Parts: sequence; structure tokens; C-alpha cells
Amino acid sequence: MSENPLLTNSTLPLFSQIRAEHVVPAIKQRLDECRQTVDAVIRAHADKAPTWDSFVEPLDLAEDALERSWSPVGHLNSVMNSEALREAYDQCLPLLSEYATEMGQHEGLFKLTQALVDSKEFEGYSQAQKRSLENSLRGFRLSGIALDKDKQQRFKAIEQSLSELSSKFEQNLLDATNDWSMLIEDPDQLSGLPESALGLMAQSAKAEDKSGWLLTLQPPCYIAVMTYADNRELRETLYRAFNTRASSLEKNGGERDNAPIIDQILALRHEKAQLLGFANYAEYSLDTKMAESPDEVSEFLEQLVTKSRPQAQNEFEALQSFASEQGQSSLKAWDVPYWSEKRQQAEYQLDQEALKPWFPAMNVIQGLFDVVERLYGLHIREQQGVSVWHDDVTFYDIVDGEGQKRGQFYLDLYARKDKRGGAWMDVCSSRYKKPNGLQYPVAYLTCNATPAIEGKPALLTHDEVITLFHEFGHGLHHMLTQVDVPGVSGISGVEWDAVELPSQFMENWCWEREALDLFARHYETNEPLPEAQYQRMIAAKNFQSAMMMVRQLEFSLFDFYLHRDYQVGETDVQSVLDEVRQRVAVVQPPSDNRFQNGFSHIFAGGYAAGYYSYKWAEVLSADAYSRFEEEGIFNRDTGRDFLHHVLEQGGAVSAKDLFVAFRGREPSIDPLLRHSGLAA
Ligand SMILES: [Zn+2]
Repeated sequence: MSENPLLTNSTLPLFSQIRAEHVVPAIKQRLDECRQTVDAVIRAHADKAPTWDSFVEPLDLAEDALERSWSPVGHLNSVMNSEALREAYDQCLPLLSEYATEMGQHEGLFKLTQALVDSKEFEGYSQAQKRSLENSLRGFRLSGIALDKDKQQRFKAIEQSLSELSSKFEQNLLDATNDWSMLIEDPDQLSGLPESALGLMAQSAKAEDKSGWLLTLQPPCYIAVMTYADNRELRETLYRAFNTRASSLEKNGGERDNAPIIDQILALRHEKAQLLGFANYAEYSLDTKMAESPDEVSEFLEQLVTKSRPQAQNEFEALQSFASEQGQSSLKAWDVPYWSEKRQQAEYQLDQEALKPWFPAMNVIQGLFDVVERLYGLHIREQQGVSVWHDDVTFYDIVDGEGQKRGQFYLDLYARKDKRGGAWMDVCSSRYKKPNGLQYPVAYLTCNATPAIEGKPALLTHDEVITLFHEFGHGLHHMLTQVDVPGVSGISGVEWDAVELPSQFMENWCWEREALDLFARHYETNEPLPEAQYQRMIAAKNFQSAMMMVRQLEFSLFDFYLHRDYQVGETDVQSVLDEVRQRVAVVQPPSDNRFQNGFSHIFAGGYAAGYYSYKWAEVLSADAYSRFEEEGIFNRDTGRDFLHHVLEQGGAVSAKDLFVAFRGREPSIDPLLRHSGLAA
């Protein structure tokens, strides 16, 4: 056997042995093995029909080996970053993406997949096998491989241009953000800003050998000014600078204007969709999503607009009158965050810090496990002696009521140096029934909570509690799957707009008195969370929720209609946005607002004609949870149904069918409206 710990057959990664120098040789070897497997499979079927065992199995095994070598590398790069590791990681990225492109465009694999789907064998396959094969076939089709040669050429050229345009878009935005700054020398100009923000600004000034406070458009600075600066002119200045980034209105005369880039991106996306046989890019986007048609998405969004806009208008009027009582009439876009913060403080005085004593990390983790035990009859046990990457990390087994092992996970809860910020769940290995036995799913759960200080236990904010529950929801989706085919087990193959259902669903237990009483106990007195605090928490949750809702709907509708209604040479992006705003927004931005030129989600990220997914998943999780509200939030039968119908099925069944099986009907928007304090 090789000495490289990334190439051993151990069930769990040998974290304590992995070094940067192991990475590149291991990944190169795995990629070689994958390519050799592909060649062997192609040769073997030169004059023989493919079957699951002869065709799919060897490929799945090779891919699984690659995943198990790569996943600890990607993970360590995020949680134990070092220069050497980052270099090795960066060296692998192009190798992996080259391999992925090669496989996606592999004509031989495409033809064999097609032959297998068309074969008599296929009929006898399990639902999971069928869906896994159909997904691969769809992947091939969407990569343009089924097109005639000349169209295929054009398709590749479009893909190439789109990827260049997206990075140009992002680069322009980054440059525009970085180029702008403003030095303030008079501290009176900065009244209202908290110490932490002032410290950041003083530090930025110092970094440029200046004295005073340097304001920038980086989010921490921009958001602090918009939220807290008493100086209205200053807020307006930053607002205008931020919302004209990468536009012709910038002071450098539009050298990095994203508007023409947006036009080119839209034209190419439209052409690409039509080459593949779709009427428009929205249809293309929905081909891999739970939502079935553009009409379904637009009706969904418009329904939410109808239900939430009147209340958003009321909330805005309430904010107006609150501000005018204090001498500020006619609120502009740059006044809204500032006065919202003032009003929220006046009404709820909710301080995240003040709640922390009720959320000691150890209680919260135990509480989370108790919730899972009550809901699904599962037991979570810590396992000692597993090789980990840091002393903070703990490892657990999940065992079901029958004593069957279901999955395992690493928990890395606290922030530290060289660990990427944020919180996420990642796959270590997937459930997969191999010829020589079952491989259990293993997950990484990563958070960045504040560690223990000065003899006090680690205390979490309520937001951190929610984040932990959220990520654990993703983890359960990955670990509780009963699907044996890796392409559709756990979160694999789950439609993109349904992936957040199990995670957002878990958040609900962070808001229920009955659930909070299990773990929200004062770390010194063991007292439960006082009722007054709890009520303030709930009220603050729904503060201006309709205004927030219509803002998300404005972005979603703009994105969706832009891609659905695109007409070559006719679509004017600004008019599409203006039309949506006039109907939906309650805060009308000034006419020089160029929000779209900074909308990276859809022009540089993966959210094109998919921004609606945020609301879509919220509706699903709220509606799934409403069955628990009706039947009891710890009702074991309801929990078992959710386990069987959703968590265990992975991507083996369409998300729509799974939802209907659990809920007994199609999703309804009413529970989300009710949870957000909006009259349903
Ligand atoms: Zn999530």
C-alpha cells in the first residue's frame, strides 16, 4: 500500500497524518485512475451493451475514491489553512475542473448512458438507479454534447465567453469597490457610529499613512454608515457611491461599466438556452429545479407580492411617522436602514449580547441532539479516538432506534485563526452500497462561534444557535439517507431550489418555547429564558418583515422576468428593473441607482433565473413545519413521516413528489406569511 494518507482505504480520513505534500500526488493519482477506468469501460463496451454492473459501478467507484481523497483536502484548506496547503489546493483546482469538463463532454460516456437508459435492463432498476442515470443523461444534454457538430462549436464558444464575461463583471465590481474611499478628519462627522466601526475606519486610514477615519465601500464599513451614521449627507454620499459602482455614472467615466457586459451575458444565455431547445433562459434554469415551469415561479412570486405589499406599505408608513416625530420627514433610500435601526431599538431593545448567557454552547449542542432524538428516535453519541485536525473538533455516530448505524459527523464549532468564516456542512463521504459492503455517510459541520473566554463557558448568540441548527439540518439530509446509489444519496441530486428545505426547517425549533426550554438555560443559574426576553425575540424577528419580503421579491422578479422575457435587441435592463420596482418596492431608489451593475448573484454567480429559490425554500420549510404545528412540534409520527418522506430519500425522488407525500398536498405560501407576522 502507498504511504500517502490520502490514498489509503481507511473509512475516515487520517487527518493527523495529512501534509500539504501529499495533496498533489494523491489527486493526480486519483484522476489517473478515473481516466483509466473510463477508458477501460469504453473499451469493454465496444461491442457489448452496458449494464449497471459493467458500466455504472466501476465509474461510481472511481469517482467515490476521488471524492474521498479530495474532500479532506478541501476541508482542511477551509479550516486549517496554511500557505503550503493553499498552494497545493490551488494546484489541484484546474486539474479537477479540467477532468469535470472532459467527463461532461465525453461522447463515449454519453452514448453508453443513453444506451443503458434505452435498454430493457433499465426498466428493472430501482427508482434511485433510474434517477441517477436520468440525471447524468440530462447533464450531458445540458453540456451541449447532443448537438450537431457546428452547433456544438458555437455552444462551446458561448460557454467560454460567458465565463469570461462573468469574471469581467466581478472584476469591475471589485475594482469599483476598492477604488472608492473618503477620508474624514472631523470626528463630529461620524457621530452615531459604534466603536467597532470607528476602529475599523481608523485602521483603514492608518494603513494608508493617513490620520483620521477612512470610509470605504467594503460591506462592514458601508453597512455601519448606512445603519448608524447620524450625518444624513454622509449616508447619501456613500449610498450613491455604492449603488453606482461599475456603472457609467462613476467618476472615472465608465471605464468599467457593467451595463454592456450585462447585455452581452443576457444575449449569450438566451442563445445558449435556445440552442439546447428551450424557449428562454428561465426555462433552461428550471430544467434542473423543483419548480416546473416559468408560470409556476411567476405565480408564486406575484402571489407573495400581493400578500405582502400592503403590509410593507404600512410598515414603511409607520417608519416614516416614527422618523418625522424625530424631525425627519420624507425618507429616502439612504434613510431607511438608519431609521429602521432607531425604531427597532426604541421598540424592542433587543440586544444579542444580552441573550448569550442563556445559550451555553454545550447545552445548545445537547439540546439540538435532544430535538433530533425526540423527532426521529435517533441517538447521537460522541466517539473518542478518531483522527481530527484540531483539539476543538468532536466526532459523533448517529444510531437509529433499532441500533443501526446511520451516519457520522465531525463538529468544529469555534472560530480560530486560519479558519474560513461562516458556517457550512460539507460531505466527507456519501452513503454508497459498494460491492464489498455499505459505506456510511460522513459529514463535516463547521461553525464560527465565539470560543470560551476567561473561565466562562462558550456562550452563543441566538443567531449562532440558529446557524448551528440550520447546518445540522443539511447534515441530517446528508447522513440519514437510505439511498444506496451515490449519485442520488443524501444531498446529491437534490434539486437546487429544494436543498435548503431540511436546513431552514430545523431553524424552527430555535423559536419554540417548548424546544428552547430544553436547552436555553442560564449558564450560572440554570434559569430558563425569561418570558419577556422571549417575547421581544419573537417581535424583533418579524420587525419590518414585509419590507424585507418585498425587497427580496423585487430582486427575484427582476432576475426572473429579465431571463424569461428576454428579446434579442429589444430588452432594456433598466426598464425591466424600473417596472418591477414601481409595482413591488415600497422604498423607491433614486433614478441614478444602478443596483443591477453589482448584482453578482445573477451575473457572476450561479443564481441566474434562480434568485427566487431563496423564497421558494422558505415557503417549503415553513409549510413542512406547519404540519408539526398542527400535530405537535415533537410529534414522533410526524417526525417519522418527515424522516421517511424527505430526509431518507435524498435525490432519488423529485422534491415535489417528496413534499406532497409528506404534506399531503402541494406547497402553500400561507405558513411562511404567518411565520413572518404577515396576515395570510
Ligand atoms: Zn443552508
